[in-house]
Amino acid sequence: MHECWVTGECWLGCERTGVPVIWLGPLQWDGQHAPVHACEPCLDRLKAQALAYFMERRPASV
Ligand SMILES: [Zn+2]
Repeated sequence: MHECWVTGECWLGCERTGVPVIWLGPLQWDGQHAPVHACEPCLDRLKAQALAYFMERRPASV
């Protein structure tokens, strides 16, 4: 993942603005798309959730 931090608004629920955020990717909805940015605490939360998801889906035979 190419990391590029900018100062802006967090889109992941903490409602903070003027904080360092990273671009996660385009959110597509109804034929339109918006740039989703996340601050570091929200990104950490998202990473932990993604990791839990990967662990859960990992086949038991591995
Ligand atoms: Zn946030």
